[in-house]
Amino acid sequence: MRPGFHHYLLNGYFEDPCLFVRIPMEKRALLFDSGDVRNLKPADAHKITDVFITHTHMDHFVGFDMIIRTLLRRDRPLNVYGPAGIAECIAGKLRGYCWNMIQEYPFLLNVHSYSGKTVTHTVFDAQKKFRKEVRKRTKSEGTMLRNPLFHVKAAVLDHGIPCLAYRIQETVHINIDKDGLQRKGLTVGPWLTEFKKILREDFSRQKEIMANGISYSINQLKDIAMFTDGQIISYATDISMSSDNIAQLTEFVKGSDIFYCEAYFMDKDRERAIERFHLTAKTCGTIAKNAGVKRLVPMHFSPKYSDCPGAVIDEAMGAFQS
Ligand SMILES: [Zn+2]
Ligand SMILES: [Zn+2]
Repeated sequence: MRPGFHHYLLNGYFEDPCLFVRIPMEKRALLFDSGDVRNLKPADAHKITDVFITHTHMDHFVGFDMIIRTLLRRDRPLNVYGPAGIAECIAGKLRGYCWNMIQEYPFLLNVHSYSGKTVTHTVFDAQKKFRKEVRKRTKSEGTMLRNPLFHVKAAVLDHGIPCLAYRIQETVHINIDKDGLQRKGLTVGPWLTEFKKILREDFSRQKEIMANGISYSINQLKDIAMFTDGQIISYATDISMSSDNIAQLTEFVKGSDIFYCEAYFMDKDRERAIERFHLTAKTCGTIAKNAGVKRLVPMHFSPKYSDCPGAVIDEAMGAFQS
């Protein structure tokens, strides 16, 4: 199965967690957290349309300025999502610079802050020197972004402060039956991308499509498409060890194909983990196991284990596979 998302962490276990998710079919990418983003290749940075911030501790937010710096001349807007208060944090960052030379730039920042009940949309427009403009507040159960190909949901968890976990879900995965394609005398080509797009978006399927220079109705071709459940990726970091939080996170990441999760402390330092509102590696593994995730990727380890990352991984994976 060809995955709909390509994803990787920008940094190592002891550096800032930062997940890059590329969506090749849409020629766009999503970024989860923006701490140290120096490993982000410029070509990848330019693909980013949406940035999802868990919370504004420095190790998750310090690189946001660099992203703005890279995209400042772009005419495609950047959408940013985060917990309540994120718009004020962004306004604070923007106030730290002089903007007298950007009136010609078409760049727009759309900020969506999620309180657990409502999403507030705030706009920062380069042509207005990034003055903060609150547009509207709508009721929400956590769907931050939705389009025919995928959607992203957020859950408000506790880290001493509100901290969002995210779940990206491909709506449906469509594979093409190569034998069926051959039987119809067709070959692969860019038309298949358009074909899949129509299948996702237009359920009446009355459209016509040009395949290898011949016009077909979607109904004539639909038997070469095989529908499977879409891929699910979850991302959670900086989560307190309270039983409420753990139960909520377990429910939220249920059935994920891949779960990126913090494993900041080891179980021997459990008291410290509770004090600092972080998960232990063992709890990270237990959440993944109880949620039935297919693959766990532990991340964001405390520097105190810098000489033994293997022990942290073993603790998380041990609990996951037990
Ligand atoms: Zn934090
Ligand atoms: Zn952190």
